Amino acid sequence: MEKTTPILYLVVPCYNEETVLPQTAPVFFDKLRALQADGRIHADSRVLFVNDGSRDNTWAVICALAQEDPIACGVALSRNRGHQNALLAGLMFARERADVTVSIDCDGQDDINAVDAMLTEYEDGCDVVYGVRADRKSDTAFKRGSAHAFYRLMTALGVESVYNHADYRLMSRRALDGLAQFDEVNLFLRGLVPLIGYRSSSVYYTRTARVAGKSHYPLHKMLSLAVNGITSLSTKPLKMITGLGLGVSFISLVMIVWTLVRHFSGLTINGWSSTMCVILFLGGVQLLCVGVLGEYIGKIYAEVKHRPRYIIRETTDEKKEG
Ligand code: UDP
Ligand code: MG
Repeated sequence: MEKTTPILYLVVPCYNEETVLPQTAPVFFDKLRALQADGRIHADSRVLFVNDGSRDNTWAVICALAQEDPIACGVALSRNRGHQNALLAGLMFARERADVTVSIDCDGQDDINAVDAMLTEYEDGCDVVYGVRADRKSDTAFKRGSAHAFYRLMTALGVESVYNHADYRLMSRRALDGLAQFDEVNLFLRGLVPLIGYRSSSVYYTRTARVAGKSHYPLHKMLSLAVNGITSLSTKPLKMITGLGLGVSFISLVMIVWTLVRHFSGLTINGWSSTMCVILFLGGVQLLCVGVLGEYIGKIYAEVKHRPRYIIRETTDEKKEG
């Protein structure tokens, strides 16, 4: 069976990026045009910008881009829902229109030229192609170190994730159909995509600095993404609590024997320090464990409600029609 040229949608989530878009959008357009000229992608291929409830003029910029150039289109979410939800909204929108999608940040940090290699892998039959950072020279030492610790922790906790891969990836329509079947509210796409299965591979690129604006992932957001990633994909922390509980119970048992021995030998007066240590230690361990349980209960709470993960307010296509 001969393969026809695929319709590619480049999915770009944008949050407060009015200074960035005018610089990076033309680069995306040029890339798609070049691929079209080479006959690698269909003429209907487009760049899809997802406005994640930006508070600046990002949506106006996207609308202007779509007005000027039919290769651009956009969807606006009803409010800010965060990077992962915005990306999912874009992918699900593209699923009905494209044969293959590539998701990329709009800040120019991910090298758009890696799309060529991704398409080659796709043509070779891969449904998922991960963009992997060959080096992180442009990141601060702290971001590098914390990211490294994060991937190590994820692996240790049994979450399958691709080292140094963020959300720059190619997904075929088949893979997107698979993703659509995961209807969890706590989204961590990097962890979900490997669960879809199908053949996958990686291409390597150098990550550069942002062309303008600043990162939307300060430390607290990175930490919350990490906690979300772990608690949505692994129940190992719960098992670790059980292990910890067993360990502490064993120590307590030894202490009880020791206490009884001291009691019957009549040596029970000077016990303040040891009592304090035991109380403080157990108090700390218990609070920590309750906290971990709480994280999971919070996840269940959000899942049970099953609220929509995003709501689309408008699209540039319907604007043009209407
Ligand atoms: N982003 C988004 N919603 C948010 C935060 C970020 O859609 O609430 C987008 C942002 O516009 C960018 C991408 O997600 O295209 C990655 O964000 P950023 O570059 O700030 O993160 P970093 O590269 O520093 O990890
Ligand atoms: Mg970035």
